[in-house]
Amino acid sequence: MAGMVLDGKAYAKELEGELQARVEQLQKKTGGEPPILATILVGSDPASATYVRMKGNACRRVGMESQSVALPEETTTEELLATIDELNASPRVRGILLQHPVPKQIEERECFDRIAIEKDVDGVTSHGFGRMAMGEAAYGSATPAGIMRLLKRYGIDPSGKEAVVVGRSPILGKPMAMMLLGANATVTICHSRTKNLAEIVQRAEIVVGAVGRPEFIKGSWIRDGAVVVDAGYHPGGVGDIELSAVIDRCSAWTPVPGGVGPMTIATLIAQTVEAAEKAAGIA
Ligand code: NAP
Repeated sequence: MAGMVLDGKAYAKELEGELQARVEQLQKKTGGEPPILATILVGSDPASATYVRMKGNACRRVGMESQSVALPEETTTEELLATIDELNASPRVRGILLQHPVPKQIEERECFDRIAIEKDVDGVTSHGFGRMAMGEAAYGSATPAGIMRLLKRYGIDPSGKEAVVVGRSPILGKPMAMMLLGANATVTICHSRTKNLAEIVQRAEIVVGAVGRPEFIKGSWIRDGAVVVDAGYHPGGVGDIELSAVIDRCSAWTPVPGGVGPMTIATLIAQTVEAAEKAAGIA
């Protein structure tokens, strides 16, 4: 039997409708101008430029403003830190998104960590990660937090399940593993030094592909009835998992595109609305 489609595109659209209503309420209460999500793009990577544009568009769809800061490829760490300081100090900016990756000469971690925690709506700071990992209130990294929302929406409770996350990047694999752990899954994290990857993936009742290589995780590694979450995206609409080989025998799966991607953006926007509500004292 074909697995249930975890339709991130449809759910993200529904969430946007709710967020739009919340932004309207917020403005009525504050009588002020709409909150701003500031986006910072360093360099000219076309894929990053597209992601930033999509995030700005989503922001406007729910009635917020977006302020896009574009910095040249040769920007230094100090210059980027100064930009972040300005946005931290700006009262109308409620959220700051620094698009990953930044050019190599920049200390990305130092820059992420400069974002004020109350404006870290993309969940990239070490402080935010630590709080999330400790089970304290924090904005989660947008992609894994979006995946958790999607699982919840479809009634998939990770509690007691064997979850395998393939990938351990700071914005995806690692926070994903901590969020699944926080939801009481038994979590294994795999990475480039993992031995017997296929065998480990075979154990998973929930498998998350966050490798960054097209169809790297083979359908044959995945057991019948698993929940298959593909966070990857590559040109041509291919993810990190060989989905075509598994959709007929898994219990649920995220399409690429239309699964995890739209949930990432919706989560970023939701966290920005929440930050604006908190700043206005109504959340
Ligand atoms: P990344 O920083 O390149 O991390 C990739 C991870 O995969 C690393 O932890 C790496 O292990 C691991 N890996 C690489 N080769 C491996 C192998 N042969 N076996 C096992 N593990 C291996 O990538 P990322 O930023 O996490 O992104 C992962 C994917 O998600 C990409 O396809 C990206 O396009 C996608 N993504 C999607 C969204 C979205 O909104 N939908 C957002 C972000 C990323 P090591 O740590 O050992 O090097």
